[in-house]
Amino acid sequence: MSYRRIFSVFELVSVKHVAAMLRLGTKYDIGHFRTQALEILHYEHPMTLKDFDKSCTAPRLDYGLDTSTHVLNLALEFSLETVLPSVYLIQLQNTSLVRAVCSIPQRPLSHCISIQESLIDNNMNPPLDKRAQVNCMLGRNKLIFWLNKTLHAHLELVTEAHYNPGCQNRSKCVPERKCLVRGFRFWMNDYDDRPGRLPERWKEPKKHSLCRTCLKSLQVTHAAIQEELWAKLPSFFGLPDWPAPESGD
Ligand SMILES: [Zn+2]
Repeated sequence: MSYRRIFSVFELVSVKHVAAMLRLGTKYDIGHFRTQALEILHYEHPMTLKDFDKSCTAPRLDYGLDTSTHVLNLALEFSLETVLPSVYLIQLQNTSLVRAVCSIPQRPLSHCISIQESLIDNNMNPPLDKRAQVNCMLGRNKLIFWLNKTLHAHLELVTEAHYNPGCQNRSKCVPERKCLVRGFRFWMNDYDDRPGRLPERWKEPKKHSLCRTCLKSLQVTHAAIQEELWAKLPSFFGLPDWPAPESGD
């Protein structure tokens, strides 16, 4: 390692620490501050879905009271183009449409918000950059439109005539598969207009009557939709495509 490590790779680091290291490191040319801050941001907001899953399972950035708003503003300030797509995604996950329109800061979805906490948040959270607000609204629309179109196209393909050649029970599997695809929760949850986790992890249905071949095929379809969504993610927010893996930011 060519620089002095401030935080271990196992340590959760607050957004405020990372922001301070990046700003100080850039302003006073302190290489190891800047390098380590960028390393954490790129780990938390990587370019591939596989790495994103890994960072969700073992995060290094502690959002705490800081919301994705801080990270989004930071990524915009330093033009971190490969960090921005998944920060936008998290921002959408954390912000209901009503709140986004009213520009009310809020906590991540996983937190239970008490009135007192909401007041703390409202005082502590910086406003979201105006460009980012517009990109969030447009991105939200584009993402919903794309998901609806993609799921509809998949349902259109599920017909008796063109169904999985390896299927062992078409009369049951065709309607069952349509029903399960309609149940994919890529976007809205049942209580709010906030999305569930995007891209959603595959969960084998608890009850189903698909044959084994069709279950495997459904899992492959789910993974393909996830990968396609991830590939298109930058375009939803008006960002350049993901760079080739070797080129980085
Ligand atoms: Zn089948």
